[in-house]
Amino acid sequence: MSKFWSENTKRLQPYVPGEQPKFSNLVKLNTNENPFAPSPLVLQAMHDVVNGDLRLYPDPNADNFKQTVADYYGLQKSQVFVGNGSDEVLAHAFAAFFQGKQQLLMPDISYSFYPVYCQLYDVKPRVIPLDAQFAINSADYTGAVAGVIFPNPNAPTGCILPLAMIEKILQANPDCVVLVDEAYIDFGGVSAVKLIADYPNLLVVQTLSKSRSLAGMRVGLALGQAALIEGLERVKNSFNSYPLDRVAQAAAIAAFKDDGYFRSTCKKVIDNRIWLTKQLRQLGFEVLPSYANFVFACHVEKAAEEIAVFLRQHGVVVRHFQQARIDNFLRISIGTVEQQQRLITVLKELL
Ligand code: PMP
Repeated sequence: MSKFWSENTKRLQPYVPGEQPKFSNLVKLNTNENPFAPSPLVLQAMHDVVNGDLRLYPDPNADNFKQTVADYYGLQKSQVFVGNGSDEVLAHAFAAFFQGKQQLLMPDISYSFYPVYCQLYDVKPRVIPLDAQFAINSADYTGAVAGVIFPNPNAPTGCILPLAMIEKILQANPDCVVLVDEAYIDFGGVSAVKLIADYPNLLVVQTLSKSRSLAGMRVGLALGQAALIEGLERVKNSFNSYPLDRVAQAAAIAAFKDDGYFRSTCKKVIDNRIWLTKQLRQLGFEVLPSYANFVFACHVEKAAEEIAVFLRQHGVVVRHFQQARIDNFLRISIGTVEQQQRLITVLKELL
C-alpha cells in the first residue's frame, strides 16, 4: 500500500458489483437491468441534445428534470434531488444525514452497498435480522440514532413492506432520517412518496436504472420535504457542481413524460416474473414472492452455487451471494420471454 494513501483508505472494503460480462451472447440475468430498451422518446431526446448544445455546460440544478419529477408525483421542485444514479444519491444521503453517527438501523440481508458507505462515512450500523419469511419486521426498528435505511422492495429478497409498516418505523424514529430505497418499487409495489407530506423524516430514493431502462445513463433521485432535500443539495454543492450531463437530463425528462411506455414495460416485466416463478417452482425451486424485477429462489436439492456454475457454463449468468443464510439462493433478474426460456431449458438439463 502506498505511503501516500491516507490512513482512512486502509480500512475500506470496496463494493463488489455483479459481473458485467464482455460477451454479448450471454443471457445476462445477474444485475437486475431492464431487458427492454428505453422509450423511443428517450432516444429521440438524447439524439436532439447530441445534435444540439453539447458544447455548453448542463443546467447545474437540473431544474426541468426536477420539475418534471415534481409534477409526476404531485410534489414541489424543492422536494426533488437528483444525482448520478441512486448509488450517488445514497452516498450524499450518508454524508448529509448519517455521517459519523452510531446506530444506523438496516436489515441484515439488504443492499450490500450500505455497509460499504457505513465504512466510508464512519457510520456504525446496527443490523436487524429478517424474520423467518425473509420479511422486515417493522417492530424491530426502534432506537435509531443515525437513522434507518432499507430497500423496499428489499434486495435481494424482493419482499415488500406495506406502507402501514413503514409509517410505524417513521413514527418510532421521529428524530432521524428514515431512508426508503425504492430502486424496485415500480414492479408492483406502492411508493412511500405519498407519505412525504406527513413525515418530515422520510427520504425516498429512486432510480431510472430499473423500471425506466436507463442503468447505463446513471440517473437517480431523492424525494422528501424541502428541509431534507436542502441537506442533500449542500453536500452536492460542496462536491459535484454538475450532477447530470445534458444528455442524461434530456433522457430523464423524456423517460418520465412517456408514461404509457413506462407502464407497458413494467407490466411486461411483471408478466415475465409470474411466468418465471411458476416455471422455477415446477423445477423444485422455492421462490420468495417478489415485487421486484428479479426473483430470489432456492432449490430443494441442488446447491445454488452448483446451479450458478452450470448456468454460467451454458451461457446464462445469474447472481449467487456467498453470505450466511442466503448462500443457497440465486437471484435471477427478469428477462425477455426468450431469455427466460433459455434459462429454463438449461436448468432442465441439470435438474
Ligand atoms: N439500491 C438498490 C437496492 C439497488 O439494488 C441498486 C442497484 N444495484 C441501487 C440502489 C443503485 O442503482 P443505481 O445506482 O443504478 O441507481
